[in-house]
Amino acid sequence: CGIVGLISKTDIVDGLVNGLEKLEYRGYDSAGIFVDSNGTKDYLIKTKGGIKELKSEMMTTGNVRGTRGIGHTRWATHGFPTKENAHPHVSYDGRFVLVHNGVIENFQMIQSDLLQTDWMQGQTDTEMIVHLIAKFAQEDHLSAKEAFLKVLAMIEGSYAFALIDRLEPEVLYGAKNKSPLLVAIGDQFNGLCSDALAMTGLTQEFMEIKDKELIIATKDTVTIENYEGHHQSRKSFEFSTGS
Ligand code: GLU
Repeated sequence: CGIVGLISKTDIVDGLVNGLEKLEYRGYDSAGIFVDSNGTKDYLIKTKGGIKELKSEMMTTGNVRGTRGIGHTRWATHGFPTKENAHPHVSYDGRFVLVHNGVIENFQMIQSDLLQTDWMQGQTDTEMIVHLIAKFAQEDHLSAKEAFLKVLAMIEGSYAFALIDRLEPEVLYGAKNKSPLLVAIGDQFNGLCSDALAMTGLTQEFMEIKDKELIIATKDTVTIENYEGHHQSRKSFEFSTGS
């Protein structure tokens, strides 16, 4: 029910987990994070419950570090509130990692039309999206951005997404429709969040995202495009998160 994403020059793990903690008020039944750094070890940690449980899983894993990450607190709409159904979800080929806040309304139709192999059948609407991005990237030889846009054009419903392509370590993708999503602008980092509160202590500078816009963020740049690929200029605003 809440998402956070960060891409930075320095470690983002504390920022990611603190951000999720700030979003707990939105409600949750499970939580998870994916963290990586340019070409080194990555971490996928998911749990039933909330950030307390997530933190203890992280202690068990030990020394979770990275410069890029996405996190999620889930309020299950499709599929039981289990560890397996918690986000982030990873595509069948391991390439893409996705968190999603919202409900994809036409997912069953797309699932039965396009994802007929067993390993692509999940319980949740979100899994269908991440598998479909991977399928288009692979079969149609599309870039991550192209595959993401192809899926965005097909789906109906509400979503705020943060997407990672493990083949592009410098980039964090986002998109939204009818679910809240802001871009956070930092010094040598950028981020995505459902609520400015998630960035308390990190930054007070944000950009609003309109429905059906795509975000391409690196640690130093943020590009906003509509789904037709046209660049959208956006002014940032200050929001005091009272840190
Ligand atoms: N529909 C997704 C799911 O059930 C996301 C729910 C949410 O917004 O937390 O997994």
